[in-house]
Amino acid sequence: MRRTDKIIYTDVVTGGDNWLYFVKKGTSLLKKNRGNRRKYAMIHLRMHKYRSFCTCFGVQEGEELLEKFYYALKKKLNHKEAMAYHENAEFGLLLYYTDKEQLAVRIDELRETLNGVLPGMKMYFCFGVCQVEPGQKDVEQLYNNSLIACEIMGEDTESKIAFFDEEMNKQKLWERKVEDEMDRALANKEFKVYLQPKISAVEERLAGAEALVRWIHPTDGFIPPNKFIPIFENNGFILKLDDYMIEEVARQQAQWITEGRRIVPISVNVSRAHFTREDLAEHICSIVDKYKVPHNVIELELTESAFFDDKEVLLSTVKKLRDYGFPVSMDDFGAGYSSLNSLKELQIDVLKIDADFFRGENVEERGMLIVSEVIDLAKKLNMKIVAEGIESREQVDFLIEQECDLIQGYFFAKPMPIPEFIEKYHK
Ligand code: C2E
Ligand code: CA
Ligand code: CA
Repeated sequence: MRRTDKIIYTDVVTGGDNWLYFVKKGTSLLKKNRGNRRKYAMIHLRMHKYRSFCTCFGVQEGEELLEKFYYALKKKLNHKEAMAYHENAEFGLLLYYTDKEQLAVRIDELRETLNGVLPGMKMYFCFGVCQVEPGQKDVEQLYNNSLIACEIMGEDTESKIAFFDEEMNKQKLWERKVEDEMDRALANKEFKVYLQPKISAVEERLAGAEALVRWIHPTDGFIPPNKFIPIFENNGFILKLDDYMIEEVARQQAQWITEGRRIVPISVNVSRAHFTREDLAEHICSIVDKYKVPHNVIELELTESAFFDDKEVLLSTVKKLRDYGFPVSMDDFGAGYSSLNSLKELQIDVLKIDADFFRGENVEERGMLIVSEVIDLAKKLNMKIVAEGIESREQVDFLIEQECDLIQGYFFAKPMPIPEFIEKYHK
């Protein structure tokens, strides 16, 4: 019996207790914790960049390292605690603690221990923590929660501790729901184009619009883009959504042309994820050409961040798009990591400056100065300027004075459904 037990419960990588044993012992510890005398926490511990370590030093060395981690950690554990190697340089630990601060200190000590295993080598670990509530004894579920805490924190180089909370669970459930429903939503046309006017600074009349997506969900109602765009950017669905937006805008422009209305260019956001395909320009052409609209009424907004992915593809795509006659604009200039360098290399038609320049205390004056210089520079480079996120009359007056071309923001109008846009601007 003892020998079979040993075989069943021994981990092949570390030679210590395996996951099966961990689940068994963990469940029993939690069950026996009558009256909740002890507070337990489930920890998910992961070494960052384990694969790179194996690439540099070999897989066997990698596994030996994991074994050393295991025994080093094991020494720090009490017999009413449990741990095991899971997979992919991840360990599960069930520890007891008195309060959150004490737990954090203990985790720091564990990190020190791990770092002591290979002195001189800088290693990073993340710790996801799920504090066990009285009555909870599902070890796998608890471990899953601690893992989610780590995932949400994201992998950067610093070692960190993340505590799980119910919000995280909600976020994960939301992501699942979005992923389950997105195909249906697209097929059912639940994604709606909203248009936000761009107003010419001099005449204060409509001179363009930006198409922004909204999800009108059959039961949940109105869902703003920040609730689903980041999820789509992660899972690739953004490619389909953006194609759909371009198509809807092309269709709308075609209809307005047929009706003989005054046409202004409408811009569509093109996520950076698109810039991995080399035939992007042809692809966009093929969507727009179905509706036989002139290319200059559909503008494409891209963010500078695309620049950091594959510069060559970006440069050649932008050139092709402009050769095909699509105006191209750079979105969010001034938010995040804008660099004048990208302006040097990228030939574009429109620069959208972000109202971030104007926001925040004490930065206003400097912000204004920068805006006026950027406008000046863009003019010299033959670009049009759109100021975004403009909310006040003072900002408008300042921008007029600086000879900014177009203004987009709540001061003039919020993004609105197409029927409302027609009502206000196409009469
Ligand atoms: P963005 O492209 O920078 O769009 C401008 C955002 O600023 C919009 O938020 C707009 O409603 C908001 N805004 C406009 N004027 C003002 C103002 O005066 N004050 C303030 N505080 N905000 C203003 P929205 O519609 O929530 O969209 C957020 C972001 O989601 C967009 O930022 C864009 O990055 C993304 N997005 C929206 N629709 C699409 C889409 O169809 N495709 C892609 N790839 N991204 C989209
Ligand atoms: Ca935009
Ligand atoms: Ca923007």
